[in-house]
Amino acid sequence: MKTSHIAVFPGSFDPFTVGHEEIVRRTLPLFEKIIVAFGSNASKQGYFPLKKRMLWVSDLFKDEPKVVIDSYDGLTVDFCVEKGANFLLRGLRTAADFEYEKMIGQVNRAMRPEVETLFLLTKPEHSAISSSIVREIYRHGGDTSPFVPKGIILET
Ligand code: ADP
Repeated sequence: MKTSHIAVFPGSFDPFTVGHEEIVRRTLPLFEKIIVAFGSNASKQGYFPLKKRMLWVSDLFKDEPKVVIDSYDGLTVDFCVEKGANFLLRGLRTAADFEYEKMIGQVNRAMRPEVETLFLLTKPEHSAISSSIVREIYRHGGDTSPFVPKGIILET
């Protein structure tokens, strides 16, 4: 029997950006299912409410049955195993991302070797986009539309 390929794309997505969208769209052909998983942490609320953040992404992918939205509050690799996901997706923008992701990826592998982390290089035009920069633009009343997927209108 063919093993199914299920990926978890974890993050805070506070908010989801065009960089995140691109990672999902580029990797869709590789998987039967991609779970966009919002790490929720009771002691770290986030800037945009979790419910809104999740709704924006489920609206964005409403015509794409392979994309599923979920949230979790434990270890990412435990969530992957619980969901039967054998791949964990992460995007790399900079060398700093690489150093940080390398550390997490190696620890995750030590905990759950059955979950393979896949790193994707971001497109050059997306490499400067981060959720924290988008939040900063929003806070100061700037136009966030070039940085978030079409159809997402940010509000707290
Ligand atoms: P976290 O809080 O786990 O860092 P983020 O929501 O900031 O979560 O990011 C989730 C994932 O998306 C991470 O792997 C991050 O490197 C990646 N990512 C963030 N911004 C971009 C971007 N502009 N292009 C590609 N990948 C990105």
